[in-house]
Amino acid sequence: MMTSSLPRTVSGIQATSDSLHLGNYIGALQQFVVHQESHDAFYFIANMHAITVEQDPSDLRERTLRTAAQFIAAGIDPEKSTIFVQSQVPAHPQLSWVLECTTSMGEASRMTQFKDKSAKQDHVSLGLLTYPALMAADILLYNPQMVPVGEDQRQHLELTRNLAERFNYRFGETFVVPEAQILKSTAKIYDLQNPSSKMSKSLPSPLGRIDLLDDAKSLTKKIKSAVTDDGKEIAYEPESKPGVSNLLTIYSSLTSRSVDDIVAEYEGKMYGHLKVDLAEIAVEALTPVRERTNELLQDRAQLQAILDSGAAKANEIAEVTLREVYDKVGFV
Ligand code: ATP
Ligand code: MG
Repeated sequence: MMTSSLPRTVSGIQATSDSLHLGNYIGALQQFVVHQESHDAFYFIANMHAITVEQDPSDLRERTLRTAAQFIAAGIDPEKSTIFVQSQVPAHPQLSWVLECTTSMGEASRMTQFKDKSAKQDHVSLGLLTYPALMAADILLYNPQMVPVGEDQRQHLELTRNLAERFNYRFGETFVVPEAQILKSTAKIYDLQNPSSKMSKSLPSPLGRIDLLDDAKSLTKKIKSAVTDDGKEIAYEPESKPGVSNLLTIYSSLTSRSVDDIVAEYEGKMYGHLKVDLAEIAVEALTPVRERTNELLQDRAQLQAILDSGAAKANEIAEVTLREVYDKVGFV
């Protein structure tokens, strides 16, 4: 097996919509692209997590490929990073079972994501409850030092670390205990219409969510109709001015300029000025991603080949960890 001397990183995104959104792009994908330069990087499409809430099979199949295309279009290079689909690496659910048996009911039911998502479902699946054990398996199989995620995944990462430590204590040193990499400034992008809730794939918010695959016209419309706050001043004050602060965060991440610098530039200007400029910036940043995604989707055999070779590499590494775990828990 070829092993890299670089530190390892792993992260995934669920195949729960046709397009990823700006929160996924800024909170996750942009970090993935940076870390592939300095890490042995594994990035996967979480199609098994996706079925914790109801999915239509043909949509799920399509969304899996579309998510892979958006990974590559956003700058993840299949020559540098291993890109794969979760269900093509059976060690994920296999390790998950062992970790489910390491997790208490109390821990799982305390997870904020479980509470939020189960409140929105008529039918709450057992998988929605055990989601964090599968996520811990996704991570621990690869023994990464670092896991880049958005703020909403902090609690799951903390549980992953606890499960790793618990397993190591009970069965002997097995897993690397990974660090969460959560960028303070960009880790939570909010819904443009409702700046108190995070931008989300699974929440219908036609005007509040900026999709990577939106065309210029709808991007512009959504940004111009973003909810702003009382007063006129353009200032970064997440508590009292959540709407404008969210726009400033997005502006800053898409331009790599500091929020202070942007605030200084807009001193004395109106919210409308900021929105017009941000719409232009977003169109410029996202149009190439959309076009490249559509190009990649023209050649599905090529995309599938990238995913197949990613799965082969992921399987090699995941199998080694799984075998060690099975041995340690006493499976013959
Ligand atoms: P779903 O609604 O189906 O859960 P999601 O939008 O929350 O979708 P996930 O696939 O669950 O997206 O998460 C993928 C990655 O994107 C995770 O690292 C998560 O922390 C990050 N992420 C999701 N939403 C945001 C957001 N609004 N701001 C920043 N990062 C985010
Ligand atoms: Mg989510």
